[in-house]
Amino acid sequence: MALKIWLNDKLVDQSQACISVYDHGLLYGDGVFEGIRIYSGRIFELAAHLKRLYESARVIRIEIPISVSAMLDAVEETVKANGITDGYIRLVITRGIGTLGINPFACKKPQIIIIADTIRMYREELYEKGMKVISACTMRCHPLSLPPQVKSLNYLNNILAKIEAIDNGVPEAIMYNHAGYVAEASGDNVFIVKNGVLYTPPTHAGSLDGITRAVVMRIAAENGIKVVEDNLTRFDLYVSDEFFLTGTAAEVIGVIEIDGRQIGDGKPGAITKMLREKFFNCARGRTD
Ligand code: PMP
Repeated sequence: MALKIWLNDKLVDQSQACISVYDHGLLYGDGVFEGIRIYSGRIFELAAHLKRLYESARVIRIEIPISVSAMLDAVEETVKANGITDGYIRLVITRGIGTLGINPFACKKPQIIIIADTIRMYREELYEKGMKVISACTMRCHPLSLPPQVKSLNYLNNILAKIEAIDNGVPEAIMYNHAGYVAEASGDNVFIVKNGVLYTPPTHAGSLDGITRAVVMRIAAENGIKVVEDNLTRFDLYVSDEFFLTGTAAEVIGVIEIDGRQIGDGKPGAITKMLREKFFNCARGRTD
């Protein structure tokens, strides 16, 4: 069935939802976006996603032409119009139409696109058995090149790492920063467990300030697990007791092998499973 897409100030038919070939979002990957989940009719962590969207836009000097509350209404209206109760929202802000030169200030009107659709997740089997990953050769962009907290439309750095993963027959690749520390996976944040403590790299090591990451850290703390944000090395990943990734689409998924080294006993660990289950319930509005 054709979807209704939010374009700038109204819903239009999918076939009418068009963007100019002069839009700098297309020409230069100049824009920002969010991926958001809908669980049982509730939009998960919408306020946090909108905060990140507006902050990302601010950093790259895009002034989103509508207020946060108007954006919130537009997102809700789009979800409702498409009757999506469990799915995924893609909210995109492009720089807008400009010239063929890169000058962003030639673009006068940022474009707002909101798509609410269903989502394809990793196979259930992958959650039960855990996934294998590799270390990418592609280095994460230096934080002084592009702040990692900006969720920009320019994903080439991550895409190069994803290509390495697929070439090696695994779904994800771990990216390291200029100093050799773990940054993040190509589309997810990284966590390990060592001696009962949960570790994740700080965002300044080169990772997105993941919404799932923040919720998982909160759930861990609420359940008496110490959470530490610190630089991690490849060694730390290799000798971890448990290893998992977090993201809006992936939720919480265990990693059981990296670069041919088995993690723990080769199955998703107990803390990973507990956090996955509690995240699952929290996202669906179930508390225990
Ligand atoms: N890092 C990158 C590069 C991402 O694209 C994403 C989102 N898919 C994440 C981390 C996870 O962030 P979130 O939990 O907000 O989806």
